[in-house]
This record gives sequence, structure tokens and C-alpha cells, in this order.
Amino acid sequence: MLQEPYPELDDLLEMMGEAGQHLAEIEASEGAAGNISVCLRWPIELRTRFPLVDDIELPQPVPELAGATFIVSGSGRRLREIIDEPTANLSCIVINEGGQTGKHYTSYNRRFERVTSEFNSHMAVHYDQMVSSGTNFHAVIHAQPPHMTYLSHVPRYQNESYLNTHLLRWQPETIINLPEGIGFIPFRLPGSPELMAGNVESLRTHRIVIWAKHGVMARSDVSVKRAADRVEYAETAAKYEYLNLSAGEIGEGLTADEMREICTAFNVKQNIF
Ligand SMILES: [Zn+2]
Repeated sequence: MLQEPYPELDDLLEMMGEAGQHLAEIEASEGAAGNISVCLRWPIELRTRFPLVDDIELPQPVPELAGATFIVSGSGRRLREIIDEPTANLSCIVINEGGQTGKHYTSYNRRFERVTSEFNSHMAVHYDQMVSSGTNFHAVIHAQPPHMTYLSHVPRYQNESYLNTHLLRWQPETIINLPEGIGFIPFRLPGSPELMAGNVESLRTHRIVIWAKHGVMARSDVSVKRAADRVEYAETAAKYEYLNLSAGEIGEGLTADEMREICTAFNVKQNIF
């Protein structure tokens, strides 16, 4: 939930650009992999940056979000290029009354036909979170951090309890930033209704979820950069785990007692350790 003064359009475009650039720096968005969106409920002026308007069918009806604005990356666009030319790589959707359709605001220099192919998941997660928590702002990122994604190919990490007790043990910061741990969704076809449903369910109880053999989705109701941080915390944890596997598992990791001590000291409520 954000308090006034709310960020202006240019601030939001800049933060989405910085998040995209950072995801590229941590190698979580090769080529055109990954996508970003935010949803906000305060009135915002779009026409100066996105003067072209047409109607768009929404992937699902979202009547409670009538009047809300989405800013979303375009299909096939590179997250690292948003920062240089936001209007070429992003567009905005304002939800119409009734929540079945929206007004799609784009720019003359837009370089894509459609919004991201994962927009169904983005919209469904925003919808679920905004309606249940009442927040006026929500950010969602899909990225493909290689160590996280690699571990999701290894059968024993496909168990949520095993995944979290092994990944969260390498640094005290990890559980402080991801107190619910990392959710897990078995392999689902990209862009499919099954992946969308999995995201909605897992992101109710986690801030980040791994899509097996594909990548991650993270959310934040504070900022898009906070969502990107969550991708980085999870990827750093996976990097340590991978390092330990490569070194013949000689690392101790924080013990369950040490993890509980950290959580008590920092007032972290968790049920992983
Ligand atoms: Zn992907």
C-alpha cells in the first residue's frame, strides 16, 4: 500500500526500467525472457507518454478493478531496454467499467503487437492480491534466474519443504526477506491457465514462487524494485546451494537452531525451521 504523494507516471516508468536493468545484471532475463507489470489505483495521466488508445479484451473479468491502471511490458521486448526507451517497451491498460475490457494506451514508438504472453498470470495475481488486501499498488515480475531454475530441474528440490530448508540456510537475510520461503509450481506450459492458477494460489502465501524448469514470479505491494530484490535474494540463495553441491556439499549452512535464533531476534514469523 502506498501513501501520498503517489509516484507519477515517469517515476513508475523509471522504476520499472531500473528493475529490468537489474534483472539483466543478475542474468535473470536473457534475450527477451521475463516480463514486468504494475497495477495502481490512483488517477494517473497517460496520454502525454502513451497517446494512442484502442480497446482490449482482458484475459479474465476483473470488475472490482474498474478504473485501475496496469503498466506492462510488451511481448518479445527486452527488460534491459525499458530504461532507455520505456514507451517503446511498455504500454498501459485502464480497466473499463464492468471489468471485461480495458483501454490500451500505447506510444507511436511502441515495438510490440501485444502485451506479454504471461499477462494472464500477471493480471490474475494483481487481481487476487489487490482485492484481498485492498492495496492501491502491486508489482509482479517474471524472471529466469539460472541457479534457481537449474535447481528446479533436480527432483529433490521439487519438494517445497526440502527446497526452502536448503536454500534459506546460507545467509540470515534470506528468511528475513522471504519469511514464507519460496513457493513451488510443477512444470506448467508457459502462458497456460494452469500456470496462472498455480501463481495465484502460491503467491497468496509466498512473495516469490518458482515455476519448475522455467523461472520465477515475484510480487510486492511496495515497489517494483522490491519485487526484483526478491528475485535476487532467491537467486543468491540458489547460487550458494549450487556452489555447495559443486563443492561436494562441504558447507554447513545455518543450522535450524541458528535460523530460529535469527527469526526470534528479528521478529520473523516463519514455519520453515
Ligand atoms: Zn519465461
